[in-house]
Amino acid sequence: MTTKDDRFRLLWERLGTYEQEMIDLQRELVCRNAVGPEQGGPGEWDKAAFLMGVLTGWGLKVDNYPAPDELAVGGQRPNLVAMLPGKKPEKVWVLSHLDVVPSGDESLWRSDPFTLRVDGDRLYGRGTEDNHHGIVTSMMAVKAFLDLNYTPERTVALALVSDEETGSLRGLAHLLKEQRELFSERDLIIVPDAGSPDSTLIEVAEKGILWLRLTLTGQQGHASKPQLAKNTLRACAHVIVALEELRREFPRQNPLFQPPESTFEPTQKEANVPNVNTIPGRDVFYLDCRVLPDYELARVKERITDMAREVAARFGVTLEVEPVQELPSAPPTDPEAPVVMALKRAIREVYGREGTPRGIGGGTVAAFFRQVGLPAAVWMTVSDTAHQPNEFCLLSNLLGDARVLAHVFLAED
Ligand SMILES: [Zn+2]
Repeated sequence: MTTKDDRFRLLWERLGTYEQEMIDLQRELVCRNAVGPEQGGPGEWDKAAFLMGVLTGWGLKVDNYPAPDELAVGGQRPNLVAMLPGKKPEKVWVLSHLDVVPSGDESLWRSDPFTLRVDGDRLYGRGTEDNHHGIVTSMMAVKAFLDLNYTPERTVALALVSDEETGSLRGLAHLLKEQRELFSERDLIIVPDAGSPDSTLIEVAEKGILWLRLTLTGQQGHASKPQLAKNTLRACAHVIVALEELRREFPRQNPLFQPPESTFEPTQKEANVPNVNTIPGRDVFYLDCRVLPDYELARVKERITDMAREVAARFGVTLEVEPVQELPSAPPTDPEAPVVMALKRAIREVYGREGTPRGIGGGTVAAFFRQVGLPAAVWMTVSDTAHQPNEFCLLSNLLGDARVLAHVFLAED
């Protein structure tokens, strides 16, 4: 009889012997360019086929749930689910994504984005952090169980999905729509796709996103004869100042978030007239609003429209408000949910730090789980280089995070 502590100690030690394997797996993943077809890439099939080979080679059952996509090779995008049966049918999911973003300006890279470069603890290459980190840590944790011949408490399910970087409709959203029965409210769901460098951020909630374009239309004229014009830039400035009132209209605070309140930022301003001595008759600017789950985006949009129109009217200017992006926030995962508690215990054990459930300002793929009532937590230890040139992840974080996942796979509740 071995105790849970003994088993975790042996898993910890075993994972410590996998460093070269982690590097090798990263190398195989980096060289398989999986930029999505929408972004001009070859898609995820090469990477999916490789991983399917590795996982079935380990004796795991792997299913593919392809999603139709006319742009993709063969008209489909792969979505793999690999299972390691546990003592209980309830699952612990780790969802990672196969696709990567394009390399961007290659002159900013110090080495080929699709060839792994190892420099000390750093593993460089497109996708190493986003999201091979999740693929490697979850696979290595599973491999430690297989090598030690341990059965996890819950069935471990690794989901390796497509299309995360371009909306998830052919990835997780497809899986949840077509294979909803795979998932249960009692499952633990971990999405290793965001976090903090000190391993303590457990993301459980997100603000709604509302991006608006505001177009003011007046009357262009000569700057020496303002009485014949309707100056949209002046109106625009007054509208922006008036919208400061939004903070008082939607004042609620939620300590899960940083900052704790909704935010309403004027951001982009399109060019108007090209010369100094013309009064502009058309101005366009944008608002980026991040709204607490407490408020409905439609209500916020309505207030913005009313307030802005009223001010514009004072200057004889009309105003049009159009949504650029509207993503309502999903219901938050309970900060005391079993998946959060299991992660907190594991983070404490492995890193000696306290994990903190928090909300973030933007959307993550976990919202698709939360939208259908599945409590998901987003967690990993990041280097914050996702989507950047010279993206890297730390080998030490791969090892630490694989140990955290192994700890969760042993969790009894
Ligand atoms: Zn990602």
